[in-house]
Amino acid sequence: MAFRDLVGNERVRRALQVAVREGRLGHSLLFSGPEGVGKRQFALALAKTINCPNASGEDRTLPDSCDRCPSCQKIERGEHVDVLVVRPETAFLRIEQIRSLCEHASRKPFEARWRVFIIDEAETMTEQAANALLKTLEEPAAESVFVLLTSQLARLLPTIRSRCQIYHFAPLKTTEIEGFLRERFVRPEEEIRLLARLSGGRIGKALSIDLSVYREMRREALELLAVLGVGDRVRLLRAAEYWGRRLDREAFERRLEVLEQVLADVLHLQLEAGDVVNTDIAAHLRSLAVWWPPSRVVHFMEKLAALRRDLWRQLNRQLALEALFLAKA
Ligand SMILES: [Zn+2]
Repeated sequence: MAFRDLVGNERVRRALQVAVREGRLGHSLLFSGPEGVGKRQFALALAKTINCPNASGEDRTLPDSCDRCPSCQKIERGEHVDVLVVRPETAFLRIEQIRSLCEHASRKPFEARWRVFIIDEAETMTEQAANALLKTLEEPAAESVFVLLTSQLARLLPTIRSRCQIYHFAPLKTTEIEGFLRERFVRPEEEIRLLARLSGGRIGKALSIDLSVYREMRREALELLAVLGVGDRVRLLRAAEYWGRRLDREAFERRLEVLEQVLADVLHLQLEAGDVVNTDIAAHLRSLAVWWPPSRVVHFMEKLAALRRDLWRQLNRQLALEALFLAKA
């Protein structure tokens, strides 16, 4: 993708393109922001732009790659000898990985104008790795650019941070994600709207959600709210057994998240305030108001939050849920 194809973070994109145009792009850049907002794609678009022989913007004022020439294509496929991406192979970026990168950086580019080194999940560098990188950042080769990507800025050594030009990435707007999905996928509008709202502003998340799995979890959450509404003791005990014992902890936590989101929607629809995620079933959620007035929703959500806090302890989840489900509304 070229800069013009990227979605969201317009301000960062402009800042990078202006820096390229005016020849004041730093040798050490740091892209900071949540997972899934496009930091990697921005880094690749930058690598293409500074190496593309046809670089010029659509409007001819901001530089952008052609995204078609051999250089752009090689970068897109991850085959360009002068554009290297490293990411942790285990939980950490090891010193050997960083050392080999720094060795490359000390040489002249093979065929490109600029050598670009993209360090993904830079916060996972071990302290030795970070110190090895620091030496190179302090004395950068003329034709090299380092781009560090991180979703946890605070975990990077302050000495690294202070060496870099920092670009802050924000979550995308719901409408931006909708537009992105609409352009690339043929899906019912209802699904596009739901995915965009579930993504929390992250394209990566929007692409990884399996809606059929989500809808099944949501169906279970709605069923639970109905059973709680009616207050049938036998069915409540059965629900406590399912949510408390039959589901493993990870499955339980994922459903808990969905349940909390559904409850938040029930509340927001009644108060006519706040964002509603499950817009596709708004009518159903409104009908739950009979059993779930705002005060009860808030009270129940507080109890769920307390339950979540205690999960790490070895408490008996089924018993805790029985107590919660059978408590007087
Ligand atoms: Zn090109």
